[in-house]
Amino acid sequence: MRKTGILFLFSFLLMGGWLAAQVNPVTAVSKGGGDKRWVVVVHGGAGGPAKGTMKPEKEKQYSDSLGRALQIGAGILSSGGSSLDAVEAVIRFMEDCPLFNAGRGAVLTNDGKAELDASIMDGKTGKAGAVAGVTIIKNPITAARAVMDKTPYVMLAGNGADAFAKAQGLQIVDPMYFITPERLEAWKTAKDKIRPEQPAPTSAEKEKKGTVGCVALDSYGNLAAGTSTGGMMMKLSGRVGDSPIIGAGTYADNNSCAVSCTGQGEYFIRNCAAYSVAVQLVYGNKTLEDAAHFVIFDILKQKGGEGGLIAVDKDGHIAMPFSTNAMFRGTVSAGAQPEIKIY
Ligand code: ASP
Repeated sequence: MRKTGILFLFSFLLMGGWLAAQVNPVTAVSKGGGDKRWVVVVHGGAGGPAKGTMKPEKEKQYSDSLGRALQIGAGILSSGGSSLDAVEAVIRFMEDCPLFNAGRGAVLTNDGKAELDASIMDGKTGKAGAVAGVTIIKNPITAARAVMDKTPYVMLAGNGADAFAKAQGLQIVDPMYFITPERLEAWKTAKDKIRPEQPAPTSAEKEKKGTVGCVALDSYGNLAAGTSTGGMMMKLSGRVGDSPIIGAGTYADNNSCAVSCTGQGEYFIRNCAAYSVAVQLVYGNKTLEDAAHFVIFDILKQKGGEGGLIAVDKDGHIAMPFSTNAMFRGTVSAGAQPEIKIY
């Protein structure tokens, strides 16, 4: 009798596990804590050339770097780390990688300088931090995190933000550190074609790409999002895009989702793009996929704004819509292989 009871309990547990696997998008057990589910999604910017026009070696470089970024996030989350730490570490890596338009490798302003924007948001506490127009901070995402953790503010800008980072002991570099030969070349070519007062897309401007972002769900059910960028090629010095603006370029809330955007920032700001995804889940009862698609195509594209976003919801569903030719992106989750896509 006792034996039958134990057998029954065992089959019940097995069945429960099987059922959960059918319902949850990410179910595999990792070494993490909490309920053992975790997800990392990264983007390396929307825009860029049409399929088939990018050199295969270049495509490989981007894919390899996205793969390394996913590995970093996965390493943190699979050993029980927080989504916030994963987002910061992934973005730090991408800021250091000269391929992307963030940190070293940022696009340049009309007067040939790198002015960097970044933000981070913690879905558990609702706290957020951002820096805008910074010029000497090696990793703007870490400065954004310091604003969140160490001040009562959400955003610091310009010289004040640079001075704050210095005072916090963050790594400071010469402004020339950010300027790669490739970006300088692109700046020289674009200089005569783009008028910063009129940010309408030109063919040269459409070449811009490479803002970076990361969203993550950790094994404790906490969401986080972060975004970092050099902004738009040939932007007027002083211009700030959506990336450091909470609700526009970045948003995270444990009750809905985490979002990081990339594209023509002015459209994302005017339409509160990142928050518009989250709010549809909370008040509109939409799926993440539908909400994200709606923002990119039915709101932004309708108004002439191009770009994309990455998002993960509290249940681990992922959405990555984009209206441009390409968006560098990748995902990895507990028990699943990393996936990287460009087109
Ligand atoms: N959204 C960024 C900005 O407007 C640029 C980008 O994502 O490509 O500054």
